[in-house]
Amino acid sequence: SAMPKITLNDGTTIPQLGFGVFQVPADEVAGVVTKALETGYRSIDTAAAYRNEKGVGQALRDSGIAREDLYVTTKLWNDDQGYDSTMRAFDASMAKLGLDYVDLYLIHWPAPGADKYVETWRAFEKLRAEGRVRSIGVSNFQPSHLNRLFEDTGTVPAVNQVELHPRLQQADLRAVHAEHGIATEAWSPLGQGELIRDESIGTLARKYGRTPAQVILRWHLQLGTIVIPKSATPARIEENFQVFDFELAEDDMAAIGDLEAGKRFGPNPDEFG
Ligand code: NAD
Repeated sequence: SAMPKITLNDGTTIPQLGFGVFQVPADEVAGVVTKALETGYRSIDTAAAYRNEKGVGQALRDSGIAREDLYVTTKLWNDDQGYDSTMRAFDASMAKLGLDYVDLYLIHWPAPGADKYVETWRAFEKLRAEGRVRSIGVSNFQPSHLNRLFEDTGTVPAVNQVELHPRLQQADLRAVHAEHGIATEAWSPLGQGELIRDESIGTLARKYGRTPAQVILRWHLQLGTIVIPKSATPARIEENFQVFDFELAEDDMAAIGDLEAGKRFGPNPDEFG
């Protein structure tokens, strides 16, 4: 297919464009994921905390798509951090998903107040050694949390999934990732929808004859990040996938770069959990 893949530091690959299901209700998620798979998405991003893993697994199994052609990410919730509790939480996620392995397992937040992410990471290393997880990574880790993992464990995460969009471009964090070979994955890539109403994004959308969401997603793809937009609306699920047949010029990439505002829509990882 035309879907670009990003090679991770453990040699596996992940589709650059995936589909997120945060806030998709449990009783709707199977239908939404089925629509995404029919559209062509092969990578689905869920989490124990989204309380919809069961419906995600149902849709994946019912799709008839070969397991090796699917890419499934789930995440360990903050309350389950710790070695033994991670093992139990992973078993619970797998039972809900109904899969033999997940492609990517992420520590959802560093939750530095509890200070358990290093021992949690040791459980992640074990799960990968057992082949129950293909790749292990983190989410919402700041440089200080990453450095702690490097120093205490020696295993570099394959991915750090962080809030990233034109108003929060994470230049410093991306530099740390580049230095250590960590892939950057962008959550809330559309700024939870808000960036779609931005005037300069609108101007670019008119210039390219595209929608604002497509322009923003194209910016992510050209930046080289993995991106997982969410929509429960069939037409938008399709719209967000039609981003491989045009390219933003360098000066338009730079114009979007100028929208940096250090603006978080989500929690500050240093204070959350
Ligand atoms: P997003 O930036 O993908 O925005 C989603 C919202 O944008 C939708 O609810 C809809 O209102 C709007 N939208 C989507 N497509 C549109 C279109 N084509 N036109 C107009 N409006 C459109 O935000 P998100 O859902 O917060 O993030 C995406 C995914 O990232 C989540 O579903 C989840 O999988 C993941 N995520 C991870 C974390 C984390 O802590 N790791 C946190 C938040 C989200």
